[in-house]
Amino acid sequence: MTTDFRTAVRLAVDDEARLRAALVESDIAPMLMVLVQLTGDMGILEEVAPHIQGPWNFLQTVPEPLKARVRDRLVAVLQDFAAHDRPAPPRPAPEVLQRMMSAGVGQPVPPEYIPLLLEEMSFGEEDTRAVHWQRDPASRPVDGFKVVVIGAGLGGLCAAIRLKQLGIPFEVLEKNADVGGTWLENSYPGCAVDTPNHFYSYSFHINNHWTRHFSRRDEILAYIREVVRAHDLRPHIRFGVEVTGAAYDEACADWQVSWRDGAGAAHSGRCNALITAVGQLNRPAIPPIEGLSRFRGPAFHTGHWDAGVDLKGKRVAMIGTGASGMQAGPSIVGDVGHLRIFQRTPHWAVNNRNYHLPVTPGHTWSLEHLPYYSNWLRFQQFWASSDGFHASLHVDPDWPQPAQSLNATNHQMREMIVDYVRGELGGDEALLAKCIPAYPPYGKRMLRDNHWYRMLRRENVTLETDPISHFTEDAIVMKDGTVHPVDVVIFATGFAASRMLWPLEIQGRDGHSIRADWGEDDPRAYLGMTAPAYPNLFMLYGPNTNLAHGGSIIFHSECQVRYIMQALRLMIEQGVESLEVRPEVHDAYNQRLDEKARGMVWTHPGVTSWYKNSRNRLTVTSPWRLLDYWGMTREFDPAQFVAHRAAGAPSSLPALPSPAPAATP
Ligand code: NAP
Repeated sequence: MTTDFRTAVRLAVDDEARLRAALVESDIAPMLMVLVQLTGDMGILEEVAPHIQGPWNFLQTVPEPLKARVRDRLVAVLQDFAAHDRPAPPRPAPEVLQRMMSAGVGQPVPPEYIPLLLEEMSFGEEDTRAVHWQRDPASRPVDGFKVVVIGAGLGGLCAAIRLKQLGIPFEVLEKNADVGGTWLENSYPGCAVDTPNHFYSYSFHINNHWTRHFSRRDEILAYIREVVRAHDLRPHIRFGVEVTGAAYDEACADWQVSWRDGAGAAHSGRCNALITAVGQLNRPAIPPIEGLSRFRGPAFHTGHWDAGVDLKGKRVAMIGTGASGMQAGPSIVGDVGHLRIFQRTPHWAVNNRNYHLPVTPGHTWSLEHLPYYSNWLRFQQFWASSDGFHASLHVDPDWPQPAQSLNATNHQMREMIVDYVRGELGGDEALLAKCIPAYPPYGKRMLRDNHWYRMLRRENVTLETDPISHFTEDAIVMKDGTVHPVDVVIFATGFAASRMLWPLEIQGRDGHSIRADWGEDDPRAYLGMTAPAYPNLFMLYGPNTNLAHGGSIIFHSECQVRYIMQALRLMIEQGVESLEVRPEVHDAYNQRLDEKARGMVWTHPGVTSWYKNSRNRLTVTSPWRLLDYWGMTREFDPAQFVAHRAAGAPSSLPALPSPAPAATP
């Protein structure tokens, strides 16, 4: 809904036949929420509620006559609003909202989630996560202040939008020739998002026109470009420059950033604050398999797909069966002569009916025209991908099958997936044994089945599960000596995520460097964003901020960017030239984080994944609920930082936090 409420209602009822046709194709749960919001009628809510058994629309069993009644009521109510030019009803009281939300997703929604959910839904088109200045313009010397953002992916662009809104001078340095980050780089066939799209998008730039519930890469890239156009960000982005490093200059309290241009020439520039938004998944990890350099055919990584290689009729080897392989394999299998898949460890993958479905025109119409429908769908998708599974990812110390599953709920999930995969494999028990992981569900990223298992039954597909020994000029040789002649090799082998910020060389104060402080694979930061000895450096998608139980990484980015903007606001409004997290705050946070992670599925000894380091420490993924992280990042707390005010800053400024150690957050 982009127009005001009264106009939207008038337009919605303008053509009753069209409205009715759209409602038939719309999702009953958000539609019911609209009806209840407009009427306050809890009777109809309670009547429908028992038929909504989960947050996904395919978990609804609402009988058709009841659906028809909801639609008829909604049409009548909208017509009444239009006829009497009624204003928007007041937002329901929190307890009513909580009941509506719980009914709408068929699960209890605890009251603690309501503020987060209202923020996420942004009723009334408010930009709920925008940061505003607190002091008058005279205390905002933004002109002398500069921020550099590294990376123009979804995180960096979010930071750029907020910086622009605040009027803080900034520049984005981007190594690619265009925006989009991982969505620009990954162009392999089948590349798509596996978080529902109406949620996997900025809360302040809702798109009501996704053509699929889980969109393909091109559509997501088009969305990102549209956001950039709408916010006129291109003039702020320098493309084709690769940042090589940054060093903190303590005397000047600023960062000297170094980069290479497209011709290889070195440059540098200064900024007061540096925001890294380099992502975690853009440095391909190619396994060091012996003889690869001898292989004469094309060999490339999913993250650098070579569209110039014609796969038609070829013998194609795909190494790796994670999220990218799951999407690429079934997308190329119809073209290739033979697809030989080399699996080291199987992944868990669930079925989601919407994953394969286009959005219907009626649903899109409702998103665009039916007041509040888009907000309620955002809520529904947020909840479906939110903290629902988090509690079930903790180890039950008394659980009798600790290698296979964590607890009763996790075991139920295991059995449900095994049943599903068995069905997909047509009861082929030998193949099933190869496809079912030995570790508990959710140990690695939970994938969405992209018809992977059906693909494995095709005549032109072979699943290899023995270890690879080496490459020859035209074949892959297994440890047992079997030779598999292949024409093309595709590495679906993931990214060097644990070497965070690599290959950037970041030097803090007093001789600190990120590479030395973090070693090969032990990144840590306060809230994933800041570290001691690195003043005025803020990381997006930094240590322990990846999401593996649910959620959208865009949600995390928005939380982080809000926090960082509040920090920058403090610096600018209070004349602070350096802001550095207190070591004890940083250490206590990481200790808490490690304790939390210890009893969770990602540190299960039977799992190897890119979420953790070689010493089984969770380094990449967040152990927190979305609610926890949202709460921790909602308000920047200056007491957690050491702040130094610039010489000559006005003496009328409020006192900075005392240097006494702050309490653990
Ligand atoms: P990945 O999930 O880390 O999978 C890498 C695969 O390569 C694994 O199967 C791994 O086996 C295998 N592998 C690695 N080294 C190997 C070796 N030496 N020999 C044999 N196999 C080897 O990587 P990805 O598929 O690129 O996905 C990375 C992340 O990107 C995902 O987890 C997700 O966060 C994101 N992603 C998201 C989407 C989406 O939204 N749909 C799509 C693609 C990617 P092991 O399991 O044994 O290590």
